[in-house]
Amino acid sequence: MSKITVNLATNLKEKPKDQSKLGFGQYFTDHMFIMNYDEGQGWHDARIVPYGPLPLDPSAMCLHYGQEVFEGLKAYKTQDGRILMFRPDQNFKRLSMSNERMVIPAFDEEFMVEALIELVKIEKDWIPTAEGTSLYIRPFIIAVDPMLGVHPAHHYLFMIILSPVGSYYAGGLAPVNIYVESNYVRAVKGGLGFAKTAANYAASLKGQAEAELHKYSQVLWLDGIERKYIEEVGAMNIFFVIGDELVTPALNGSILPGITRMSVIEIAKQWGMKVSERRISIDEISAAYDKGELKEVFGSGTAAVISPVGHLKYNDKIMIINNGKIGAVSQKLYDNLTGIQWGKLPDTFGWTV
Ligand code: PMP
Repeated sequence: MSKITVNLATNLKEKPKDQSKLGFGQYFTDHMFIMNYDEGQGWHDARIVPYGPLPLDPSAMCLHYGQEVFEGLKAYKTQDGRILMFRPDQNFKRLSMSNERMVIPAFDEEFMVEALIELVKIEKDWIPTAEGTSLYIRPFIIAVDPMLGVHPAHHYLFMIILSPVGSYYAGGLAPVNIYVESNYVRAVKGGLGFAKTAANYAASLKGQAEAELHKYSQVLWLDGIERKYIEEVGAMNIFFVIGDELVTPALNGSILPGITRMSVIEIAKQWGMKVSERRISIDEISAAYDKGELKEVFGSGTAAVISPVGHLKYNDKIMIINNGKIGAVSQKLYDNLTGIQWGKLPDTFGWTV
């Protein structure tokens, strides 16, 4: 792969002053990474250029048939001024897997980690420093052939944009309310569920909107066939502490293999906890709740890292988890993971770059 051309912006934007009001995905940095794919030529012309709109033909295939994939990860500034990214190799590995499913040509994962490091270095002054803040990184690939007709494209753009984001929990780690969706489904086996592609998020909007009307922050999806087995939350994987065991749905083809999920499993196993990845029905969770065995429920994902669930609603049943308080396992995992990510704890796994 050729080296990366850099064309720096002449006018830099004003950076957001109040880091407590960054929110999520509202501000974008001065530069972006872009690389073309053309059939016959492969991926070429990797470059870092000023951030700005794309010239895109109205017939560009991604706009009509959703042939696109994306990723999400973060860069953190440590107290001693280092910049860390959490397992970026895993994000590009997952992107490759999404590409394969979406018939998008393969790319060089190691080169992309290097390209990302170069972009983040250029934008280092955009990384916020207040407690809990970070630089969100959004790599994505879109099909750009200017033509209508459903088939895999011959031309693509691979881009990375960066956004300074606020602390997910402004007032510290706090439990969320989750609505178990028994009407709409997100994905089915054989479909796209395991890939990070726009269609999965499009499929989730309606259920998410209805849950919000009922004051629930996210939806817990059940399997697409029997509406019986637990899959994942809107943008998180889900874990249950049942008795002394940590349980999470097995990766079955319709669940996104979260990098936080993978890390939670590795940490919990290192602690000596019993961890199982298996099929879990909502009825099993409901029965464990009735018996007093459901100790904790939490989501895992890049945005919030660990999201304790305080209240789970399934049809007419409301399950109050751990009296609506943060459980010990959730808190310890949150402290460990964020400790590694923000460089406050030793990274014994070698996850940070
Ligand atoms: N499931 C879905 C549907 C997601 O969008 C995300 C966020 N990428 C996750 C799970 C968690 O994945 P990760 O831990 O890699 O952020």
